[in-house]
Amino acid sequence: MVHSGVVSLQGVTKSFGSLTAVDDIDLTIDGGSYCCLLGPSGCGKTTILRMIAGHETPTSGEIQISGVSVLGQTPVQRGTAMMFQSYALFPHLTVLDNVAFRLKMQGMAKRERRAKAHETLEKVQLNHLAERMPAQLSGGQQQRVALARAVITNPQVLLLDEPLSALDEFLRLQMRGELRRMQRELGITFIHVTHTQLEAIAVADLVVVMDDGHIVQASAPEDVYARPTSAYVARFMGGQNVLRGVVQSVVGPTVTLRSDQGQIFEVDSAQISAAAGDIVHLSIRRDHTELEKSDAVPTQPNHVVGKVIAIEYQGTYVKVTLDAPDNREFVSHVPDDKYLAQRVDVGDQVVVSWRAADVHILADDHRKSESGPDLELAS
Ligand code: ATP
Repeated sequence: MVHSGVVSLQGVTKSFGSLTAVDDIDLTIDGGSYCCLLGPSGCGKTTILRMIAGHETPTSGEIQISGVSVLGQTPVQRGTAMMFQSYALFPHLTVLDNVAFRLKMQGMAKRERRAKAHETLEKVQLNHLAERMPAQLSGGQQQRVALARAVITNPQVLLLDEPLSALDEFLRLQMRGELRRMQRELGITFIHVTHTQLEAIAVADLVVVMDDGHIVQASAPEDVYARPTSAYVARFMGGQNVLRGVVQSVVGPTVTLRSDQGQIFEVDSAQISAAAGDIVHLSIRRDHTELEKSDAVPTQPNHVVGKVIAIEYQGTYVKVTLDAPDNREFVSHVPDDKYLAQRVDVGDQVVVSWRAADVHILADDHRKSESGPDLELAS
């Protein structure tokens, strides 16, 4: 038996004329889970959401909800509801009537639908504002009304299109916690479109990273962040430095790589099966590096040397960016106490090193070249 609320896409393609917005994707989202579709602008996230909702028809492929094909069904028949970034509340209706609106459309008696609307408003902690008009609410409160209005019909799947983008930073953090809490409480499937990496990893059980109509990684947030499968995902998610080298030798437990600029990197051979001449991409977490001010170039492998070009205090750590030779930039996150004990300045030469055990090997990049659409990188 297929769990209620499972959403499954098989070989789904959507073309608009000659443009392929979504290209032959397969994806299964567990019932009652929180999924984020994440990727740069134009990669096809909203098109996927609209196809699941029934606002767009796939050019080819199959979409099932709870094991049943929904192609040809109306949005109401599919058991989905959608929440938009513009809350689209009716300005002339009270909060209560906004929330009860869909039940009214379904023909539910006034008393019954008002009771259900009060009950739903209680879940978003807004029942005390039931008689207010939307214009008398803050952005965060309007957002909660929109959420109440979307879930009042007990959908199996709630589709959220950039739900937090209209809010300021503080409210966004607060509301994303509330969305997660509501999803757990309701136990229904949430599919949330965002282009914000930290938002996705904060709320989702499953993060689906997209690029140019393709899914490039679909994993738990900790995997997508700490164990990206490709250089694209590592760069897009942020928090990682991506390096490239050619295998020089494989001796016992050590694979030795040489970058185009002559830097030597060592990798544990248990992580990788490679032969001399192979090109390997690897990533090192910014917080798994050691930074030292030094004019000497070390003889041991696994380091980059560069001049500091930016220093940003981030609270618990300091983000130090260097102009390392073969990278767009190389970033080290230095714990604040360590930084304060050994400050560096812009223009200083520093050595950033790491342990071979902290190197993560990336699979072949799906991009044939390193260029391509500009990424909206996480900082
Ligand atoms: P954003 O984050 O900017 O909303 P997105 O990842 O949600 O982007 P989509 O809105 O799914 O991207 O669009 C994917 C591609 O399909 C884009 O190139 C877009 O211009 C194109 N597209 C989307 N809808 C249509 C349409 N109705 N007609 C023609 N092209 C469309």
